[in-house]
Amino acid sequence: MGFATGAPAGGTTTTTRTAAAPGPAVQAPTAQGPTTQGPAAQGPTPQAPTAQALTAARGVLGIDIGGTKVALRAEDGPPGGPVRTEEAVLRWPGARVAGAYADWTALAGTVADLRERWEGDFAAVGVAVPATLGPDGRVLAWPGRPDWRGFDLVPALRRLFPAAALAWADDGDLAALAEAVHAGSGHVVYLGVGTGVGGGVVHGGAPLPGPGRGSCEAGHLIVDRRGPVCDCGRRGCLQATASGPATLRRAELLRGAPVEYPELRSGLAEGAPWAVEAVEETCAALAAAAVSLGELFHPELTVLGGGFADGLPGFTARVEAHAAALARPGGPVPAIRPAVLGGLSSLHGALALARLQPAA
Ligand SMILES: [Zn+2]
Repeated sequence: MGFATGAPAGGTTTTTRTAAAPGPAVQAPTAQGPTTQGPAAQGPTPQAPTAQALTAARGVLGIDIGGTKVALRAEDGPPGGPVRTEEAVLRWPGARVAGAYADWTALAGTVADLRERWEGDFAAVGVAVPATLGPDGRVLAWPGRPDWRGFDLVPALRRLFPAAALAWADDGDLAALAEAVHAGSGHVVYLGVGTGVGGGVVHGGAPLPGPGRGSCEAGHLIVDRRGPVCDCGRRGCLQATASGPATLRRAELLRGAPVEYPELRSGLAEGAPWAVEAVEETCAALAAAAVSLGELFHPELTVLGGGFADGLPGFTARVEAHAAALARPGGPVPAIRPAVLGGLSSLHGALALARLQPAA
């Protein structure tokens, strides 16, 4: 998305704005309280001050850590209104040779520059983390940057922001939070289809399952006990059927020839049977997950996003049609809509998470 444009490898691009924030506004969450910290947020959760008081004091910072770059955005003022913003994008230096510590040194430099332009510290920092973390905040696995395995990410974040309330969460949880805030709803289910299937549930304005209790793993919902084997080793997970790679593999089998994503897209648009069947199976699996989650959480909205889903024509309508077929008496299926924040959802979710924190 826009944050990445023109950023040289290893470099930082910055933007300063003093007028209204561009793009979707990150507004105040619909609910406050002790369940609104990130899954691994620390410490007690006393009565939260209002978001206005928090941001009026020092502002908040959102950080979206990705496999190739990091997007940062600071905001001040009332959420959704005119705000002062500062942005920066860091493209990780080098490739694998640099390692986690070189990456972190580069990020610390970008943060120092941003803090200087902000002329102060932040009241709260929210971080979108793609890696799997252990209870001590150490990286257990991150396929996107394998050298980070063993890196003490959370202690490093604490050293970087000693004066701020700090919270972090999985990208899927934060995408759900961002879409919920954007929709003005406190009850949203999000499913994102990309190289895997991510997702999150916002219930009563707060991401589930709540502080220190891990993240929503919608991709590992079991939708077909006899389905394909998932990367996790279990049979029948949603992402074993509905991820981008799983869909392409099915398309290849049906077509009897290799299929790249652009071919799938054009095949679908032209109504090629191999493309339609491959995508319909994906949409049916997503519908099963959406309807099952609807039975549990009764969301006001189910949002479908992710790069793979966004690029395929009529994807949401196909999921809706499969979901409609699963309606039962007294059990209406949830409203399903396409995501609106696209690649910005994790960053806006990180900001929304920061706004949920009590001031440090
Ligand atoms: Zn799985």
